[in-house]
Amino acid sequence: MYQPDLVKEIFSSALPGEWSRWQWQFSHRIRGLKALSELLQLSPSEIGTYRDLISEYRYAVTPYYLSLIDWSDPNDPIKRQCIPDPREITFSLPGSEIDPLAEQTHMPVPGLIHRYPDRVLAMVTNTCATYCRHCNRKRTWKNPEAGNTREALGRMVNYVASNPHIREVIVSGGDPLIMSLGLLDEFLGSLEAIPHVEVLRIGTRVPVVLPMRITDDLCQMLARHRPLWVNTHFNHPREITPESTQACERLLKVGIPVSNQTVLLKGVNDSLDVMRDLFCGLERIMVRPYYLFQCDAVKGTDHFRTDIRRGIEIMEGLWCKIGGLCIPNFVVDLPMGGGKAPMMPSYLLAVDRNEAIFRTYDGCIIRYPCPGGADNPP
Ligand SMILES: *Cc1c(COP(=O)(O)O)cnc(C)c1O
Ligand code: SF4
Repeated sequence: MYQPDLVKEIFSSALPGEWSRWQWQFSHRIRGLKALSELLQLSPSEIGTYRDLISEYRYAVTPYYLSLIDWSDPNDPIKRQCIPDPREITFSLPGSEIDPLAEQTHMPVPGLIHRYPDRVLAMVTNTCATYCRHCNRKRTWKNPEAGNTREALGRMVNYVASNPHIREVIVSGGDPLIMSLGLLDEFLGSLEAIPHVEVLRIGTRVPVVLPMRITDDLCQMLARHRPLWVNTHFNHPREITPESTQACERLLKVGIPVSNQTVLLKGVNDSLDVMRDLFCGLERIMVRPYYLFQCDAVKGTDHFRTDIRRGIEIMEGLWCKIGGLCIPNFVVDLPMGGGKAPMMPSYLLAVDRNEAIFRTYDGCIIRYPCPGGADNPP
């Protein structure tokens, strides 16, 4: 299999044991124009475009995630997700914006998004192990890689503490599992100590792009803050490797359920076969598919967007054909902070006081009787 020389060099530069250390992976992330130019064998005339591209939208890829790329396939789905594409700066569809979900205007304190009555989302860092080209928070990459300070995190905790309606805190980023364990532990502990906070959730792509970060220490620390859920982000069946499987397994073993959100991405996973393999593969490693997201109308990601109807067709192709545990909700996060809206195909064709008429997954029509008095028993 063809591999660029740089890839061979990186792989052979790891001393025995180093490859599986997350610190080595993190500090050997592939970044910068020179590496990109070698990887893609850029011509002098292309270099300028890529320079502009990465100064607008930075890139960094862990050697591990890079190793999943098949370089002989120009349309490789892993490569599409992590290697910058000039269309990020040259292509945009009408209506796309840098922050279509209006996250920046739903922040009562910096970094904390309060959109729904009972839960908030805390952006604790703008740093990730690998920058997904389809990220809907690309706007935060303008600032250098940095986590929030203890003081900034403290302001978030104070806000949550003063709002008794908040029962769940979603810790997101960037990627919270890139933070120092001590600071994350402290942050989770302060949230947990708030009486009305019932549940914590961590949104992280680390199990997929830097699985060696899911160490025993990290699992033990997270387990102390249960009830805590981890929601991760697999987009393609080829990301389900022995390493990512083990990362999820470690979390599961300490009693942390792992669920997954997938983004529907053109050229990566916009086909029924890929989605079926992905969701069944996740069920096999005991990761519950939670959401399938329509790609947001975010500037710099428009080349990934699909027709909304494509996603509904895919859901239609999955429904009842694979088990319900493998099937996520297909949702779109509405512009202007409208929240998420589900887009599941409907099987209910008509309903009145006396009956409901359904179509079945395999094309039959079936009536369900609901005589008028059914909800008013004597
Ligand atoms: C998605 C999201 C949530 C969580 O929504 P769930 O439907 O509970 O997964 C919370 N806050 C914000 C700002 C979100 O974008
Ligand atoms: S891990 Fe999440 S926050 Fe980070 S680049 Fe990917 S999608 Fe964006």
